[in-house]
Amino acid sequence: MANSESTSNHYDCVVVGAGFSGLYAVYRARQAGMRVVGIDVATDVGGVWFWNKYPGARCDVESLEYSYSFDEGIQNDWVWTERFASQPELQAYLAFVADRLDLRRSFVFGRRVISTVWNSTSTEWTVTDDHGQTYTATYLIMATGILSAPKPHGISGLEEFTGEILHTATWPDREIDFTGKRVAVIGTGSSAVQAIPLIAEQAQELYILQRTPSFSLPAQNRPLRPDEIAEFAQHRDEIRARVKYKPGGINFEPTGKPVAAFTDTERDALYESVWREGAPFKFQSIFADLRTSAEANATAMDFVARKIRETITDPVLADKLTPTYPLSTRRLCLDTNYYATYLRPNVELVDVKERPIARAVPEGLELSDGTVLEVDVIVLATGFDAITGALRNIHIVGEKGRVLANYWADAPHNFIGLLVAGFPNMFTVTGPSSPGALSNMVVSIEQHVDLIMLALEHARKNSVVIETSESAQDLWATHGEMLANRTLFVTTDSWYVGTNVPGKPRVFLPYAGGVGNYRRICEGLVARHFAGFMPENDISLVTEAINDVFDAEGKSKFAHTALPH
Ligand code: FAD
Ligand code: NAP
Repeated sequence: MANSESTSNHYDCVVVGAGFSGLYAVYRARQAGMRVVGIDVATDVGGVWFWNKYPGARCDVESLEYSYSFDEGIQNDWVWTERFASQPELQAYLAFVADRLDLRRSFVFGRRVISTVWNSTSTEWTVTDDHGQTYTATYLIMATGILSAPKPHGISGLEEFTGEILHTATWPDREIDFTGKRVAVIGTGSSAVQAIPLIAEQAQELYILQRTPSFSLPAQNRPLRPDEIAEFAQHRDEIRARVKYKPGGINFEPTGKPVAAFTDTERDALYESVWREGAPFKFQSIFADLRTSAEANATAMDFVARKIRETITDPVLADKLTPTYPLSTRRLCLDTNYYATYLRPNVELVDVKERPIARAVPEGLELSDGTVLEVDVIVLATGFDAITGALRNIHIVGEKGRVLANYWADAPHNFIGLLVAGFPNMFTVTGPSSPGALSNMVVSIEQHVDLIMLALEHARKNSVVIETSESAQDLWATHGEMLANRTLFVTTDSWYVGTNVPGKPRVFLPYAGGVGNYRRICEGLVARHFAGFMPENDISLVTEAINDVFDAEGKSKFAHTALPH
């Protein structure tokens, strides 16, 4: 075993995952004096930044902010080179953190956790990996990621294809040269939008198979200047403290006013300024009602449609590339030269809504009208079984034989994205109904792990088991649904609502109340003796904590922060 700390396989805590969440959880557990082991199927740290090595992969939250805030030394000594760091730099950053904190000695790599079973007599979890190794622990932290389980592609006959098949989320750790190759990219979400311009530069022919177009903003990525880095460092503590209470965990002051408060000229000038800045989080939240009013949202949709038409002068192609769903109800993409790529002579948009992919054949992909796209490489940029996929892929068995995958068959019942009734002492970092997916994830991850550590301290001091109740879950679900139903998110098919995976129940998976409001509610729960964290808790205390932050109509009592940036 890689974990040099282990003399037996019993631990205080098992952490599954070695991305931003798992690294921080292992660090905090160790700091708290626990015997902890982390397990990841990847062969090193990094999480999504280990796996997503496709060309062009980079973050869409500025690097300076998409980074840990908990350690002064790490913040001082790591220097970002670009506004939006690339995958190699992000992976190097997480390796730097692991080295600095000597975290690798607490991890076992290259092992997939296949089951975790709760024993109510010994009050411990037994975790089993795909090598048959077992680990027992009092606490189990699932840091398995919201976008770590690629979804089944659903393309029949792919095994018949004689060329190379690549998936953006399992990209090989070697240079892929597309020179002289005929390539098909399936999908036009965030991953494809980043990869397509670079693949197009090399490929002899590139077919882009689009079912649903994405809204994409130019990243305006560039090297960071030393003065920008110094400026951030100077105000860092203040910024880090401020973003904790921002809706999306981003340092940004929106207008806080509805679109209608501005003239058309003023409104477009504001859109233009964030478009030029390359700031997707700002673009989608600059006005207070973009995510709640279809009419307001239409102004943003129209602005981007005009931008697409500035690049794509062919009206038929421009129409195909212009989404018809409300902007930001699917993840807004960030690109470098995405739309301009369609002007290249070697690039062709194939509308697979019009002519769906019928099957793969040895020489390529056959469409429903019988056309065969002959290619050498198929790139699957088809996305993930998001938020619940990685958890449901593990056979997790709680109290009285309750199996998580079955318990979640109709909806992912849980409390604050962190706890599930019937699964004692188990925590899901940024699980369903957490604001994580709609935020700067690192801000959410640090908050979740800090809260877990507070709960563990409480549990150990008072010799109690952490386990939420179904009534706490129901309250949280009702509150979450009320907020979500005020938004346009629920009107669009996307991974946010699970519809990208056939058969997955349609449920809005993230929490729509925003990072700051969520944090305030969590603080209220902790102050009320961890209300909702123990089955015998007085449930009215959970209601109180929510009511401290939201009024009966679901409006935040804190200015301009009802919905995430
Ligand atoms: P992950 O990084 O997904 O790590 C989870 C780890 O758990 C993985 O290494 C996986 O191998 C492991 N694991 C899962 N199941 C098992 C198992 N059964 N056994 C063993 N190991 C297991 N968010 C942002 O805020 N800003 C961005 O710019 C941004 N860009 C992104 C770009 C891409 C390409 C993707 C896919 C996601 C992006 N995200 C972004 C979201 C991203 O999920 C988070 O930012 C963050 O990296 C999540 O960290 P994590 O540790 O929670 O999960
Ligand atoms: P995605 O957004 O879910 O996109 C998947 C794409 O594949 C969609 O266009 C989808 O079309 C298409 N697709 C799936 N199955 C298909 C099929 N059988 N036939 C044809 N088309 C099919 O996945 P992603 O691009 O990997 O991104 C997932 C998330 O990861 C993002 O939303 C974002 O949160 C994160 N991410 C962030 C960045 C970044 O900029 N930092 C980069 C990459 C990823 P339909 O929509 O019609 O189903």
